[in-house]
Amino acid sequence: MKRIDGREISEYIKTQVRAEVETLKAGGVFPCLAVIIVGDDPASRTYVNNKKKVCEQVGIRSLEFALPAATAQEDLLSLIRKLNADDSVTGILCQLPLPKTIEEKVVLNAIDPKKDVDAFHPVNVGHIMIGDPVLLPCTPAGVMEMLRYEGIDPSGKNCVVIGRSNIVGKPMAMLLMAADGTVTVCHSKTVDLVSITSQADILVSSVGKAKFVTADMVKPGAVVIDVGMNRDENGKLCGDVDFTAVQEKAGYLTPVPGGVGLMTVAMLMKNTVTAAKMQMTKGK
Ligand code: NAP
Repeated sequence: MKRIDGREISEYIKTQVRAEVETLKAGGVFPCLAVIIVGDDPASRTYVNNKKKVCEQVGIRSLEFALPAATAQEDLLSLIRKLNADDSVTGILCQLPLPKTIEEKVVLNAIDPKKDVDAFHPVNVGHIMIGDPVLLPCTPAGVMEMLRYEGIDPSGKNCVVIGRSNIVGKPMAMLLMAADGTVTVCHSKTVDLVSITSQADILVSSVGKAKFVTADMVKPGAVVIDVGMNRDENGKLCGDVDFTAVQEKAGYLTPVPGGVGLMTVAMLMKNTVTAAKMQMTKGK
């Protein structure tokens, strides 16, 4: 089994991004990512701190807007409108989840699609759907980079995605299909999941349950990509895959930590550069 190293591949992406940022800056374009966080969810705080840290590593300026949990939706929308209109801000992201009093859909739809570095706006989702992607959803795009880096071509392969969320499962299926994979999407109502996953040449799990993917679900030699980020019984970060058992059967496997999570942030940096370039070439 080959362990796919998210650290190595994300460093490779970040090196490319750093070079692009240098070129942009030399041409007078300064990528700048505005990160909005509402409330004090500790996991969200960790994610936001990490995104800011990686921005610094690749030379991207970052701005943080930390709003209290009691923020009114209209105040959040007003901030987004201000950032949309600010030419010095080239990317905007609003850390999810938002407090229950705020409608996530309304907020995501308010971000200018050209600055939507998470690629959650329906315009960007639509571009992915029609096979003409502009900004790519970070986690699925990170998975595709991992496959590319390892020389794994999804073309003609049986690809199975477990999970159908808007953030991971659905766009993952779209990107694999765009790469000519034959894609099956499974979810909580899927009947006889094992019979489907055990046919997969490439199996992507985005369920959110520790030790969900067991060895009997994996075809010998398969590529297994673990998107899950969970806590095990000891509170330790782990993925969806029972790593110890599945490593005996898979051909390739991503670890957690050290896998897809690192790619997600690297791809966010890549999107921030793409967004800055788009605003430079197409104007506002
Ligand atoms: P989500 O919105 O909760 O979606 C989970 C999906 O799993 C749903 O589609 C659900 O089906 C499906 N599911 C649940 N139980 C199942 C079962 N028994 N059999 C088959 N499918 C089942 O979660 P998400 O946002 O996609 O995230 C999934 C995991 O990825 C989480 O652990 C999250 O923390 C992690 N994540 C990691 C990254 C990263 O950078 N590594 C980024 C984003 C998310 P239904 O649709 O039928 O409910």
